[in-house]
Amino acid sequence: MRNELIEKSKKHLWLPFTQMKDYDLDPLIIESGNGIKVKDIHGKEYYDGFSSVWLNVHGHRKKELDQAIKDQLEKIAHSTLLGMTNVPATELAERLVDLTPDDLTRVFYSDSGAEAMEIALKMAFQYWKNIGKPEKQKFVSMQEGYHGDTIGAVSVGAIELFHHVYGPLMFESFKAPIPNVYRSESGDPDQCRNECLQKLEELLKKHHEEIAALSIESMVQGAAGMIVMPSGFLQGVRALCTKYDVLMIVDEVATGFGRTGKMFACEHDGVQPDLMAAGKGITGGYLPIAVTFTTEKIYEAFYDDYENLKTFFHGHSYTGNQLGCAVALENLRLFESERIVENVQRKSEHLKEILSDLYSLPHVGDIRQLGFMCGIELVQDKLKKIPYLLEQRIGYKVSLKMRELGMLTRPLGNVIVFMPPLASTKSELESMVSIMKEAIESVCEEEGAAFERSV
Ligand SMILES: *Cc1c(COP(=O)(O)O)cnc(C)c1O
Repeated sequence: MRNELIEKSKKHLWLPFTQMKDYDLDPLIIESGNGIKVKDIHGKEYYDGFSSVWLNVHGHRKKELDQAIKDQLEKIAHSTLLGMTNVPATELAERLVDLTPDDLTRVFYSDSGAEAMEIALKMAFQYWKNIGKPEKQKFVSMQEGYHGDTIGAVSVGAIELFHHVYGPLMFESFKAPIPNVYRSESGDPDQCRNECLQKLEELLKKHHEEIAALSIESMVQGAAGMIVMPSGFLQGVRALCTKYDVLMIVDEVATGFGRTGKMFACEHDGVQPDLMAAGKGITGGYLPIAVTFTTEKIYEAFYDDYENLKTFFHGHSYTGNQLGCAVALENLRLFESERIVENVQRKSEHLKEILSDLYSLPHVGDIRQLGFMCGIELVQDKLKKIPYLLEQRIGYKVSLKMRELGMLTRPLGNVIVFMPPLASTKSELESMVSIMKEAIESVCEEEGAAFERSV
């Protein structure tokens, strides 16, 4: 029965971001979950060390969330949001607007982070058209940025490994540099920040008349390898967008909903975006709901008599799904009653301490963390910061080792991702970090020995 399932998976499935040749060698099928652990079809348990790809908040099978879905199911599962609304989508909109930065007053639903970004891009584009400045059509995006995998989101993304194949399909966007302190010459956060802001200003000064918006991840570039921006950078970008009349689109899909120790990461830098995308943690990791937030000013540019054709012609079949909105509402209620954001802030201090222990390992080059969003960069040579080669697949090997030791996570190249569910306790964090330590130590040692033999 179990082997049959594995055979079926190999025969019929094609998994996202997965080289299926790897899957066929090491198949894994999850059957259930409880708390911050998931269990496979053989009964082996794993810590969910990456929150099922950066989503999970309260753990799996959280009683209150399960119940919220059951209760909603007694009423209705889904009805459309085209031209009408439903009860939980409406309640949730009010709740969300309460939690987001003050300028953001309008909620546009979709089903994934990539869609939320597409919507932000299209809104920004059409905004200028609607107010009579159609020449503002281009975008600025950040080097190493990631905003999802649909074509628009990829066009403002810049992860060479994922995106270069699709180059000819993309619309062009100006790329601005992002401060990467560990890889910078000076290693000085202030200098690194100021240099990048200066380059951005040069770009905006020259091209702002044709630029509709700038897109940027909030405080941490996740997919780039958990690159944490020096404090003041996002604020500096905001100031430049204002100065040059360019809309600022902030991507909080990974960082939103408590992940970094604030409800939204832009609060770390006191930033008010013009548009903001969120998703992932919004339903506690249960169902696919995403949101694009915007200001009253942008909303009003679309509000007119129908025949003036200023309508935002965009929507998806399952937009505003009742089950998803109901579980999101309960998730947000739990955020308050279980003081999730404060607790992440407090526990992340402890996490910082236990993570710093990993610096003692000879191949741990950098440890980056904001709240419960962490990346551990492995390097071939720590002193010279020489990276492992792509073909060494060091991150992948470490993640397989962790899996053997009872924890799941997916690496980003040579960076080990640690994004535990926000409800993880201190002792659970300690257990997970010790699995990471053991895996990194043993895999890097083996890799070193293999390297010695090969030269
Ligand atoms: C995951 C992610 C997205 C895409 O969200 P999906 O729901 O996977 O489409 C966009 N931006 C950032 C920063 C993300 O981490």
